Amino acid sequence: MKIVFATNNAHKLDEIREILGPEFEIASLNDIGCHEDIPETGDTLEANAMQKARYVARKYRLSCFADDTGLEVEALGGEPGVHSARYAEGTDHDSEANMQKLLRRLGDADNRRARFRTVIAYLPLTASGTAEGEPLLFEGTVNGRIDRAKHGTGGFGYDPLFIPDGYEHSFAELGMEVKNRISHRARAVQKLVDYLKTRQ
Ligand code: IMP
Repeated sequence: MKIVFATNNAHKLDEIREILGPEFEIASLNDIGCHEDIPETGDTLEANAMQKARYVARKYRLSCFADDTGLEVEALGGEPGVHSARYAEGTDHDSEANMQKLLRRLGDADNRRARFRTVIAYLPLTASGTAEGEPLLFEGTVNGRIDRAKHGTGGFGYDPLFIPDGYEHSFAELGMEVKNRISHRARAVQKLVDYLKTRQ
């Protein structure tokens, strides 16, 4: 069964291929010759994930899933949320600038509760080969808190600031093995995988 994962992120592709096993062929955007910028103009994680899955499934006539992730900080009303990648003005995926802005905005607030949330939208083709249906949604979250300073060098994005519940170290210190077991993305991916395996 061939399914497109609307990403070229090698880490994400490896993660899902490993969980799904060889009976599923997971193709990247590069694999299907999709080199354009896929629109991502929604104002929620759900809207963005669905937009990406619909775009690829309809244009390329292939079953497709897409993900979107955000860090949601309670004391900031859910910021940076859907804007996580471009939180610091005028930047794009600049983790250092994003973390500095987050620390600035939180100041010395006592409430440092936060969660990462991943939404995956999956749009399978119908029996007649069209992609007109509504995407299915799968969500994964991990609760934790924002530290007062960065710790660790592993991971990416906001990992040096995020301490998951049940641990005393940041995602950047805990390493991939722990992170991949408990992360928002791993949990959302597992839900998608459980669904795909029951549909085989
Ligand atoms: P994306 O939807 O996976 O591209 O994630 C959007 C943004 O959220 C990234 O640019 C990162 O800033 C942040 N992010 C997503 N996943 C993680 C994570 O596992 N750790 C830290 N930051 C993350």
